[in-house]
Amino acid sequence: MKPGRVYLDNNATTPVDPRVLEEMLPFFNERFGNAASRNHAFGWEADEAVQHAREQVAELIGASPKEIIFTSGATEANNLAIKGIVDLSGEESKHVISCQTEHKAVLDPLHQLEIAGVQVTYLPVDQDGLIDLAELEKKITNQTVLISLMYANNETGVIQPIKEIAALANKYNVPFMSDATQAVGKIPLDVDELGIDLMSFSAHKMYGPKGVGALFVKKGVKISSQIDGGGHERGMRSGTLNVPGIVGFGKACELCQQQMSDDEKRLKKLRDQLEQQLLQLSGTHGNGHNEQRLSHVSNLSFEGLDGEKLLLSLNEIAVSQGSACTSATVEPSHVLRGMGVSDELAFASLRFGLGRFTTKEEIDFAIEKIRSSVIELRT
Ligand code: PMP
Repeated sequence: MKPGRVYLDNNATTPVDPRVLEEMLPFFNERFGNAASRNHAFGWEADEAVQHAREQVAELIGASPKEIIFTSGATEANNLAIKGIVDLSGEESKHVISCQTEHKAVLDPLHQLEIAGVQVTYLPVDQDGLIDLAELEKKITNQTVLISLMYANNETGVIQPIKEIAALANKYNVPFMSDATQAVGKIPLDVDELGIDLMSFSAHKMYGPKGVGALFVKKGVKISSQIDGGGHERGMRSGTLNVPGIVGFGKACELCQQQMSDDEKRLKKLRDQLEQQLLQLSGTHGNGHNEQRLSHVSNLSFEGLDGEKLLLSLNEIAVSQGSACTSATVEPSHVLRGMGVSDELAFASLRFGLGRFTTKEEIDFAIEKIRSSVIELRT
């Protein structure tokens, strides 16, 4: 049977796993207590559920539950980490190192800091999307108060050399923060082993609900709160906790831990099939390092095509042109630009993000549909 609609935009968001939804449902009505209510069983029950979720989230990344701060998502977690570290750093003139191909949820808070007088270095990347470690080391100064580099890129899936970056940050005693929104739950990672100080991630990229995420803050690392009022999350993020969301996030982490390796193997096969077949079309190029990238992501440029027209002709297939979060603007992707891809080719690029519920039939269908659209638009 031909699939009706095919969703290949799992980097933008993932569907909620039915097992996650089931776990969340009682917390909307039956067990609706406020986790901060200390005087009755409704509150205790909610608090217990939050603590259990905190353990599930911590376990997935090798952290301790006390090192997890729940937020509304990765955007908020990035803001909290970046502004929170810079606020508390004692240096008079402050310097941060990041990268040109970061997500807007890192770039925009950094731009705000620049307006406030902080100096920011945006490292370039090579044509594979990777930073140069020697270049990073050269940029560290006595004023550097933070290094913020993403784990895996949302447009290309390219994975930065996180362990090496953390080792350099450690050598110069600079806190290292990583936006790991696309990596957590997809590849095994352990914050302790890697030497990461702060790490952000989000439930809706890993089959959990939207509107909930977390910041890992290593024990001993100090940040200033960005939202005050009530002292929740040990004073670092006030506001009544989103209990159903947090419960779902916990379950999503548990499921990822159990099946991440099987998902990864299966999706790599499907992604490779999609990519190999489409690369056979003349003038088609893959963007991003071939090995150092997530197994479920592919970013392809189709020479001579207008990406928007291609997207329109693929109306049964949900993919994105560049990153969904910048879709309000019609700029070519800053990530592809940063990798030296021409504007013309960047506009002619599609991002495919496969997910846990992607089937072989859907990939077969997508290949046929894209192939015929590309051929038709070129004639
Ligand atoms: N960082 C990266 C790398 C992302 O891909 C995203 C989501 N597009 C975010 C941050 C923002 O996450 P959220 O939607 O949870 O705010």
